[in-house]
Amino acid sequence: MKSKREGNTRFRLVLTLGLAVVLPALTLIVINFRHVKSIKRDKQVEALIHRDFDYLLTISEKQINQRAYAVTEEARDLFPADNATAEEKSKQLDAVLAKNPWFAHVFIFDSEKEIVFRSQPAKWNDPAFRADHERLKKIYSGWFGMEGKLIMEELHKRPKPISWYGGEYKGPDGQLHYTTSSFFAFPNVPQERVLLGGASFDPDYLKQTFFPEVLNQLISKTLNVDQQGLVPGMLHELKPLESNEHRDQPLAMMVYPADSTSSKHDHPIAMSPGWGSGEPEVSRSLDDVFRGLKLGIKFQGTTAKAISDRWVFQSLIILAVLSVLMIGGLVLTYRSVNKQVALARLKSDFVSNVSHELRTPLALIRLYAETLELGRITTQEKKNEYYSIIRKESERLTALINNILDFSRIEAGRKEYDFRETDIAELVRNTLDSYRFQIEQQGFALEEQIDAGIPPVRVDREAIARALVNLVNNALKYSHNEKFLGVRLYRDKSVLKLEVSDRGIGIERNEQARIFEKFYRTGDPLVHNTKGSGLGLSLVRHITRAHGGEVEVESIPGRGSKFTLSLPLANPSTP
Ligand code: ADP
Repeated sequence: MKSKREGNTRFRLVLTLGLAVVLPALTLIVINFRHVKSIKRDKQVEALIHRDFDYLLTISEKQINQRAYAVTEEARDLFPADNATAEEKSKQLDAVLAKNPWFAHVFIFDSEKEIVFRSQPAKWNDPAFRADHERLKKIYSGWFGMEGKLIMEELHKRPKPISWYGGEYKGPDGQLHYTTSSFFAFPNVPQERVLLGGASFDPDYLKQTFFPEVLNQLISKTLNVDQQGLVPGMLHELKPLESNEHRDQPLAMMVYPADSTSSKHDHPIAMSPGWGSGEPEVSRSLDDVFRGLKLGIKFQGTTAKAISDRWVFQSLIILAVLSVLMIGGLVLTYRSVNKQVALARLKSDFVSNVSHELRTPLALIRLYAETLELGRITTQEKKNEYYSIIRKESERLTALINNILDFSRIEAGRKEYDFRETDIAELVRNTLDSYRFQIEQQGFALEEQIDAGIPPVRVDREAIARALVNLVNNALKYSHNEKFLGVRLYRDKSVLKLEVSDRGIGIERNEQARIFEKFYRTGDPLVHNTKGSGLGLSLVRHITRAHGGEVEVESIPGRGSKFTLSLPLANPSTP
């Protein structure tokens, strides 16, 4: 019956744990693992980063172009009027060059007059520059002479009448240089009139000043836009995705020639600080102003792949730790509940054992007392026997009640010990004396070995006697075939040892530690048939520990057991 009820309790417990905790927890873990795995497969994080990058590159190009347009429009306003003389034009263009040191050449073409083509005087000493001047002047006047009208028409179709011509050319040093030139119409001149102005950027200026500045500004600006969440549309739409971590990563940008074979991104025109090395994560071919160039972007010191891998890795680690914690928690809960169930069983066993143990001696005492009262017993010998039975049974009762009282005091934390200087040899002898009759009557051979010269020790007399009585009682209870009881008191250096041994049923190895737990009784069927509360040894242990000592058991099943109390001697130097 009992085990069935217990089985039910355990089953209910497992079911509750299973339904309420394990199932949801497992589902959560499985779903999360799948989620992380699918993200890894889809490279969602990487894709998300690339989308952000694309967007940043688009707005960056716009800003770069705006700057080039602004510079050019500002210069155009300083260009000479269409009716100026060639000399005046030269002068004014020189003034434009002086104000805009980033231009290498400026020119104005009038189909009715000559082209006026001026170049930066600071570079005039360079023969290659002069050669450039001559070459461009010739090319432009020829080209505009033939196609001027067409170019004007095209210009006026654009939102702003400025068009660009960019590309690389080989300098006299054999190196490739990139520049871009603008061609523009003037606002207040009739559209039919072919009047064209233009300016070429100085390649050195682009490389050394313009791009470095603009890139620097871009990487700080794009980040700011990001952090303030000011960018409408696209970035917001991306926000709900799990990993926005990359948005805090510092960025780096680079400008490099788009398709020249020799100069890929390892020959950049300019790069922002923090580019370090490596390829751009995403790149964009520039159009309009800087056609022929590419703008590349990446993270400083890391890659989108590294970020996405790290994110997946972190998520997996967190999940793993959570799973371990959850499993650990479950195991602990299960174990603690199991322990409670076992304790509850032990307690109920205890109650039935104790009531049984109380009833038997009481019944015997009553029976013998009544028999004596009736006066039917005539021989003194018989009477003595009955008296002794009554005394023995009351002693058993007292011992049991003492155990229970002690136990409840210990449980309530109220147990107090009264330590006094004691001749322990005498204490052991006296205790055994009061049991000698009972021991011998039960057919036990008592072997008593108490060493002489044991110094007095500070102990609680009553408690030590009770511990000894419990051990002796156990030896008597759990011996069936060979009835032997050995009690030894001796000194081992600074420790006093009290040994109680028997040749009884013994204790299985795996139960030897547990017998000192409260209520615990071994699974042996002989134990089951013997009365007991499971309290004795737990009291023995409590008492010994209160004396600063320890109790140990050595036992071989079927051969017997030996319990040893070790009590420290107060003054080890005493001989
Ligand atoms: P009780 O004897 O009332 O059951 P104890 O706490 O004294 O409780 O002992 C706990 C258990 O340890 C016993 O039920 C028994 O199984 C085992 N035990 C104790 N002493 C002996 C012994 N001398 N020989 C064999 N088993 C023992």
